[in-house]
Order: sequence, then structure tokens, then C-alpha cells
Amino acid sequence: MKHVYFDYAATTPVDSRVKKAMLPYFSEKFGNTMSLHSFGQEAKLVLEKSRETVADLIRAKPEEIIFTGSATESNNLALKGIAFANQNKGHTRLHRYASPHRYASPQQIQRFWRAKRCGQVIISPIEHPCIIETAKWLQKQGFQITKLKVDKYGMVNPLALEKEIRKDTILVSVIHASNEIGTIQPIEKIGKICRNKGVYFHTDAVQSFGKIPIDVNKMNIDLLTASSHKMYGPKGAACLYIREGVRIEPILHGGGQERGLRSSTVNIPAIVGFAKACEICKKEMGKEAQRLIKLRDKLIRNVLKIKGSYLNGHPQKRLPNNANFRFDFIEGESIILRLDLLGIAVSTGSACSSIKLEPSSVLLATGLKPAEAHGSLRISLGRWTTEKEIDYLIKVLPGIINQLRKISPFKVIKSA
Ligand SMILES: *Cc1c(COP(=O)(O)O)cnc(C)c1O
Repeated sequence: MKHVYFDYAATTPVDSRVKKAMLPYFSEKFGNTMSLHSFGQEAKLVLEKSRETVADLIRAKPEEIIFTGSATESNNLALKGIAFANQNKGHTRLHRYASPHRYASPQQIQRFWRAKRCGQVIISPIEHPCIIETAKWLQKQGFQITKLKVDKYGMVNPLALEKEIRKDTILVSVIHASNEIGTIQPIEKIGKICRNKGVYFHTDAVQSFGKIPIDVNKMNIDLLTASSHKMYGPKGAACLYIREGVRIEPILHGGGQERGLRSSTVNIPAIVGFAKACEICKKEMGKEAQRLIKLRDKLIRNVLKIKGSYLNGHPQKRLPNNANFRFDFIEGESIILRLDLLGIAVSTGSACSSIKLEPSSVLLATGLKPAEAHGSLRISLGRWTTEKEIDYLIKVLPGIINQLRKISPFKVIKSA
């Protein structure tokens, strides 16, 4: 049976060049960066070299890169770290006078906590669950969370965002490119508005990092999240870019690694792999994006020939490797299972929500009805996708859609 992988947005295989670069750091060069002896020095040296390579991809300074274990961790650090370090923004008087003193009664303390109002955090409705859930948790701690709206392409309106910013707004977090529908946000404009208003701006760039150019200075980005295993590096390495001077608290406390912002012995093999992956992407990004856009557009053109099929996300402003469709009267999950029988791996959207069988909240935010959101299919391409593979998918998909429609319960209801 053929094996065709169209789920590069969920995770990517490790490039053999990356694997080769990592190997010496498992058993020969295994030192701890905190040790003073030569084993430690060697590890420290390669850590700083890797930091330079990762920083270079987004035109940051090396000291502005903090290595973490995953993008989920980076996003948690960004939101919680910024929120807590700046929680009193716009509420200084309230806190000065309302803080419970040492001899306060339990009732007084309770009253204080009820009155506690921390600043505001603004997010988009099409964030990855690790941003949405972190924001929900912050809300429980007293922060005010505002969710923006998006248009039918999943696009945030920068002017609508500007209207939501208040004097107690701490942070705006908007995903650079959607992991589900591929839409690329007007990050530069959003960043400019935040900069002018004196609000920190974070972007989850996991899907765009290494695939399209990013310049943290030109795009007015204060914090940025990237993950190694989405760009041909190993799992277990990620980073958070933090602009110099940004006020942030750690969420992990301990030995003080990574400028005190991420205590833990650093994962040198994974970080070396992450850096190698960045180096390769920097070199090959331009050509690879063109190649993928050609394949993606061929796929989109042909799939849209199927009756009752639609493209989700923006027709032009989308990731080179993302195509997301929906089909009338059928569920994405049933298409996935049929394609899997033919050795083709695709997805409905984010790998995290697909097991729960709930309609994607990203698609609902673009205005689709739950039944429409259920009919969606994400096809994400990557470094080893060939035209032959695209042709194979184009050949088998119409038949599968037809078969599934014949047995679709939705269609019966609809026509009855
Ligand atoms: C995959 C993904 C994440 C989570 O990344 P991990 O490194 O697996 O924690 C976060 N945001 C986006 C946009 C993603 O695609």
C-alpha cells in the first residue's frame, strides 16, 4: 500500500540532515550547560550557537530567544508571564487601596479578592487550544479576556482590535497563520496598533515560522512562539522570542536557566536539531514556498471541481502548504477514514480537537453552521510532497465523496 502524508501541519518528520546534526549530542557531547567543566562548556557553547541561528531566522537578537520544551509551553509562558508581570496596569489605585492588610478578617480578604480586577488580555477566536485554554485560566485568576471577531476568511480586523484596547489592556495575542484554515493575519498592522497604544503584542507563529519570512522588528512583534517539530526538527524543542525590555515573569522556577525564565536543564540534542532545521528553512524557504504554492493551487483547483465543495480560509492570504475544504452533507471524519484505507493521511483541523468529534471552533468563528464545520478536511503539504501524490489524491477523492454522499443521513433529512 502507498503511504502518503498530507498532515504536515500536525507534525513533520525530522529531516535527515537535522538527525545527523543531533546525534553527537546524545552520548558523546552530553554535558549540562550549567557545569563549569569542559563538558559543560561545550554544551553552553553549542546552546549559544543554536540561539544565534534561531534568532537569525526572525531577525531577532540571540539574547531575545528563550528555549522551551514545546509551543504549548511558550504560549503559556507568554500569556501567563506577561499577564502576571503587568497585572495592575490601569488599576494601580484600586490595588494600592484595596490590598488586604496583615490583620484583615477573612471577610475582608474575601471582599478584596471579589473586587480584584486585573488588566485585560485580547485574543482572536481562531487561536490554538493552548492559547484559548490559557486565556480561560487567566480569566479565573481575575484577568479580563476579550475575544475578537473574524470575518468569513478567519481574518482579524485591525481597526476593530484598536477599538477594544483600553488603558488596562496588557497584551494582544493573535496567531500569525491559522493551523486549521491557513489564513495569514495582517500581523504588521496589528503590531503597529499595539505599539502605538503601548500594549504588548504576542503572535503564535508555529505554522508560519520557517515557511514564510518573519521580521520581528518590521512586524512590530514583542513576543513570538515557534516550535521545532512543525518545521522538520525534533519534538521537545521550541522557543519564545521576547523583545528586549519586555516585562515578563517565569512560570517555572528553579535553577535559573534561560535568563531565569525557563528553569530546567536545557535539552541540547533537541535544540541543536531545532537550530539545524532553522538553518535549512532559511536557505530553502523561498524556493520551497513557490513549489508548495504550485502544488496547493493545483489541488484546490481540482477539488473545487467536485460539486458542493468549498475552500475554507482566505483564497490568497494563506499558508503555502495549507488547503482546507468542506463538502456538503458529509463529515470530515468519514473522509479521513476512507482516505486512510488508501494510505492517505489527512486531518479535519487541529490534531487536538479531531479526537473529540466536536465541530471546529475556528470554523464556527468564521460563521459556518455546525453541520458545515463538520464537513471540513485539512490537507497540509510539506518538504516531501510530490506532484504524483497530489495527483493520486485528486484521482481518488471525488469517488469517495460521491460514495459517502449516497449514504449520508444529512442529505436525506435535507431533501425530505
Ligand atoms: C502545533 C501547534 C501548537 C502546539 O505546539 P506544540 O509544540 O506541539 O506544543 C501551537 N500553536 C499552533 C499554531 C500549532 O500549530
